[in-house]
Amino acid sequence: MTALNTAGWRPEMGPAQHPDQESHAQETASGDKGLMLEEPLIFELGKPGSTGVDIDPASRAPSDTLERFRRKSQAALPGLTEPETVRHYTRLSRQNYAIDLGPFPLGSCTMKHNPRLNEKIARMAGFADLHPLAPQQTTRGALAVINELAHWLITLTGMHGVAMTPKAGAHGELCGVLCIKAALQARGEDRRVMLVPESAHGTNPATAAFAGFDIENIPATAEGRVDLAALKARLGPDVAGVMITNPNTCGLFEPDLKVISDAVHAAGGYVYCDGANFNAIVGRVRPGDLGVDAMHINLHKTFSTPHGGGGPGSGPVVLSEALSPYGPLPYTARMADGTVRLIEEEDAAEMGHSQAFGRMAAFHGQMGMFTRALTYILSHGADGLKQVAEDAVLNANYVLRSLEDVLDAPFGQSGPCMHEALFSDDNLPDGFSTLDIAKGLIDEGFHPMTVYFPLVVHGAMLIEPTETESKAGLDRFIGSMRSLAARAKASDATLKTAPHYAPRRRLDETQAARRPVLNWQGN
Ligand SMILES: *Cc1c(COP(=O)(O)O)cnc(C)c1O
Repeated sequence: MTALNTAGWRPEMGPAQHPDQESHAQETASGDKGLMLEEPLIFELGKPGSTGVDIDPASRAPSDTLERFRRKSQAALPGLTEPETVRHYTRLSRQNYAIDLGPFPLGSCTMKHNPRLNEKIARMAGFADLHPLAPQQTTRGALAVINELAHWLITLTGMHGVAMTPKAGAHGELCGVLCIKAALQARGEDRRVMLVPESAHGTNPATAAFAGFDIENIPATAEGRVDLAALKARLGPDVAGVMITNPNTCGLFEPDLKVISDAVHAAGGYVYCDGANFNAIVGRVRPGDLGVDAMHINLHKTFSTPHGGGGPGSGPVVLSEALSPYGPLPYTARMADGTVRLIEEEDAAEMGHSQAFGRMAAFHGQMGMFTRALTYILSHGADGLKQVAEDAVLNANYVLRSLEDVLDAPFGQSGPCMHEALFSDDNLPDGFSTLDIAKGLIDEGFHPMTVYFPLVVHGAMLIEPTETESKAGLDRFIGSMRSLAARAKASDATLKTAPHYAPRRRLDETQAARRPVLNWQGN
């Protein structure tokens, strides 16, 4: 097998093509094909010493004190001119897929449109140019934004308090679990076990283990929900709490959550709810009414702030009355004079918040995401947010019912799904798998769906269309999925080697994960 015809590939990187795929001869002298532009690594492009800026030579020799700081050898920089640099990154960006190019149906990730109004507000100088250490009297407006967003999150979830500082969903999980730990410590109890359903997102058991708990799994029922009897049977004085995702990772609502919460509370434990899927129920269900003690909200999912390559996450955690006293510092509070203050360690006791478990972040959290999320919330209003949930669920059910005759839908009989539709590879012919459908989607011009998650379903394909796709957009996607299912059923061997039209053919997934080639020296 010969190498791909790319300047960036060298034999020591291992096979870049699926072994059963014929290699293609060099078709153009440049390696580019029309507007499909090839791109080497930046270190292969540049030459040492070349630069985008001209710096005057030093007018005098450095003093002896400074001389010892002089480099002994050339810095390992790629050495590119400005146009070379701009073209490099622009060419790479064209090989990327983005929510601004088309649907991104990754289940659980909620890859929805990022409204441009959010960006406009976030870029206002009064927000964008603030320094986290600026004196509080100069940042009152920004603090008021955090406080207003906190108020919305508490209201929408029916909870008692919120920790705004966590910087992602998983970071929020850690914050919530540390609150549980602090509450147990305050009660003088050493409960070691965290119960986690089989279908949980991997971050749930990872978080609980990181916080020092022992993880025990709770099985799922045949309908794809938490096995209530098994959970109740396991409760006892050693159980710190449960971590439950609702809607769960099979795309189903957990109608027993209130019963579960009551049972867990009666047994002295706490209920953590993974709220990453909140976009399915925002404005319709208040987790506080279901007995939840802590729940993170991914602003970058439910509230449309950019994620993936587009920006940092933000994972505020809403807390019940029982856990609020342990929430981290700093936090915002509206004072008697109407101003919003940031409460730090020195003011906590006076504010009646002396049991905080510590901090999740150096400063107040992801300010840029707070301005975007609040813009999103205010531009939708309470009625608009309710419609977000309704449209997310409607779109997912449209996908579920439009594909269940060609792909196995393991929980299709469990009733309507929430914001995502789950399929399996069960009725694909021998030799064809979920991976083939995912790779085929790339040729069709779509980002693949989430594959092989949740683990409770063999060969899972988890599709989350989100509420921002139109019916016409969904119909195009469904048309592609039906065509791919039909090609698999007809044992079309070309599907096994897809993608054929992407910048790269099918990679060796194991090599790519185990031996990623991250620099120009090929190691
Ligand atoms: C996305 C997600 C998380 C983790 O959130 P991050 O912001 O990526 O850390 C946790 N649970 C579920 C169900 C998710 O979808």
